[in-house]
Amino acid sequence: MARNWRRLVIKVGSSSLTDATGRIHPPQLWALSRGIQVLQQALDCKVVLVSSGAGAAGRERLGLNLPLTLPEKQAVAAVGQTLLMLDWARAFAPMPVAQLLLTASDIQNRERYVNAKNALEASLKQGAMPIINENDSVATSEIQFGDNDTLSAWAAYLLDADALIILTDVDGLHEADPRIKVEAKRIDIVQDIAEVGYLAGDAGSSRGTGGMVTKLRAAKIATDAGIETLIIGGGGAGLEALARGELRGTRFVAQKQAPARKAWLAQQPTKGYIGVDAGAVRALKAGRSLLPSGVSEISGHFDFGDAVAIAHKEQVIAQGLSNYSSSILEKIKGLQTREIARVIGYKDYDEVIHRDNLVLLLKS
Ligand code: GLU
Repeated sequence: MARNWRRLVIKVGSSSLTDATGRIHPPQLWALSRGIQVLQQALDCKVVLVSSGAGAAGRERLGLNLPLTLPEKQAVAAVGQTLLMLDWARAFAPMPVAQLLLTASDIQNRERYVNAKNALEASLKQGAMPIINENDSVATSEIQFGDNDTLSAWAAYLLDADALIILTDVDGLHEADPRIKVEAKRIDIVQDIAEVGYLAGDAGSSRGTGGMVTKLRAAKIATDAGIETLIIGGGGAGLEALARGELRGTRFVAQKQAPARKAWLAQQPTKGYIGVDAGAVRALKAGRSLLPSGVSEISGHFDFGDAVAIAHKEQVIAQGLSNYSSSILEKIKGLQTREIARVIGYKDYDEVIHRDNLVLLLKS
């Protein structure tokens, strides 16, 4: 299973990093850093870490107790993030670490998406360990992922990762909450999340079976995008076991493997963007090509064959290679296919972007 993984996103939660008072617990963090490096070497792959812990560490450092006001939360995140990164930097030394603080708009907004992806790629290329957290100091509710499980799934998506590993204090998904029912059996493999979703309990509650609600949601986002997902326990030792081929948790099978060309398409730097209407969004989601009639707006300068982002209401939904330059597209946007030749004097293609040259980036 793990042998072909080239790129991994590993998510570490606050409970794996902090002691009961909320202070970062260095031995746990060092064990994790060791586990990550052992796994990285065993698989010869790139790793991006998503780390929580800023909130807990900041509250402990400032002596603040829950509930916090919004400004207090912002200060807590700002203070805690530096403590968290100091410890990670020490634990990974001499490897440099790269801090990336993201909000949901970094995934949804076309320019920020390209920027975030480029920053991650550049950090990896320089041999640094990217460590992502939500930018809690500035993320208001409208632009929040809200939890790092969801953030880690989108990070895996952004990075075109082969696998997402979510580390938690329970070693996988169980038939009942193992902290209440000790004899509850672990589910080793899940082919279809729809069949186990009920185990997580009410999606509105913060803690379902083993605190699994947000983890299952993240597994769904990732596996739908063709990314294998593991929920494992045991901290650093759990990762070292995985490096030896032992799975101490639950494996969620990827729904479909994104073909290599689609993965390649998703990685092409874009030269501009095409705004499309709701009808075009539906067509693209149904696997069809982008036609001029669905195009409402063009920005940037691009030529035939250049990669462009496709967006609807500021949200990037797909990316592909354009059959028309930006200046020609400006003339044929909104038109029916049969009108192309009349307006520009020729028609090489019916489609602005053919479905074979197009990759969907956001599913919902
Ligand atoms: N971003 C938060 C922190 O670093 C954690 C959110 C979560 O654990 O899901 O404290």
